[in-house]
Amino acid sequence: MDRIYLSPPHLGRHELNYLHKAVEDNWVAPVGPNLDGFEADISAAVGVPHCVALSSGTAALHLGLLLLGVGPGDEVLCPSFTFVATANAILYCGATPVFIDSEADTWNMCPERLHEALADRQRLGKLPKALLLVHLYGMPAKLPELLALAAEYAIPVLEDAAEALGACWQKQPLGSFGRVGIFSFNGNKILTTSGGGALVTADPELARRARYLATQAKDPAPHYQHSEVGFNYRLSNLLAGIGRGQMELLPDRVKRRREIFNWYREHLAGLPGLALAPAEPSGAYANRWLTTLLLDPAATAATPESVRRHLETRNIESRPLWKPLHLQPLFTEAPMYGGAVCADLFARGLCLPSGTAMSDDDLRRIAKTVREALV
Ligand SMILES: *Cc1c(COP(=O)(O)O)cnc(C)c1O
Repeated sequence: MDRIYLSPPHLGRHELNYLHKAVEDNWVAPVGPNLDGFEADISAAVGVPHCVALSSGTAALHLGLLLLGVGPGDEVLCPSFTFVATANAILYCGATPVFIDSEADTWNMCPERLHEALADRQRLGKLPKALLLVHLYGMPAKLPELLALAAEYAIPVLEDAAEALGACWQKQPLGSFGRVGIFSFNGNKILTTSGGGALVTADPELARRARYLATQAKDPAPHYQHSEVGFNYRLSNLLAGIGRGQMELLPDRVKRRREIFNWYREHLAGLPGLALAPAEPSGAYANRWLTTLLLDPAATAATPESVRRHLETRNIESRPLWKPLHLQPLFTEAPMYGGAVCADLFARGLCLPSGTAMSDDDLRRIAKTVREALV
């Protein structure tokens, strides 16, 4: 049986044309037409005027924090329930993450715990420098509540929409709500450039500074002149060509990911102790990057690990949910507000294969195997 991967790349027919043109024109470097085109495509899709294509989502997070003035000794509010890259970028700045628990509806940052943290940090004498929001698995966080708190405490928002390209809150694309937003085009994401990322902002000065920092922070002079530390974070014009082909497919890919989630929900219905989750709240349009399920230990003896192992025997890849960062050895010293909600999600959850290139036969094979694991 062929292996079914969790979320492999899914290329279309036009990526090769853009690559071909770049090679034919001998324009593989430096920045070039594909990079401009890719940035314009992202800006148009997200509805944010400025976009800077970068070598990874992690690089975009790092630059995003620097743009918001985060530096050594600062604190940054961040969900515990996310991929490590979100918080690694905080460490790159010499800052400390202040972790916030999830809420049970969308699994994203809990507004109540955030409020508690803000009041507590203020009482301790120093407010965090930035609020880093994540839309996990492409499900919008509770934006009205979270943004109202950020505004009340005058804290700028960086939106980690690495998993959320194409998702919306009340018809507005995710990534466009913060002062800065970021996306990832890593190989497992909904669209990929093999590796890549992007930063978006409505502020032309921030976009200019992002480009400057991403290209070694060169001062305007004919020779190489530098006044501050810079980075080599630009995406190559070749990879941007793949990105242009991929961006043409965004609406299709989101539609298919959502179909896959709904297919699983229908075909795994009625299994005791298993639920496809989280549900989509009214106003939210999730991209369903990964289909996730929760098991109820009161209703089934199966665990995420027993299901994962059974799937593995049929050559099907699945993964536990992100392990909360406050439970990671890397972050034992970081402050944490709450923690029980995301710890419980981690203990009970599993990601199912969600790649858009899967056939209906693949889906049937997966559902049958999950069913076997539950009885
Ligand atoms: C994938 C991901 C990133 C990092 O993106 P890369 O392009 O892999 O560096 C950051 N945050 C979240 C939530 C992610 O899922």
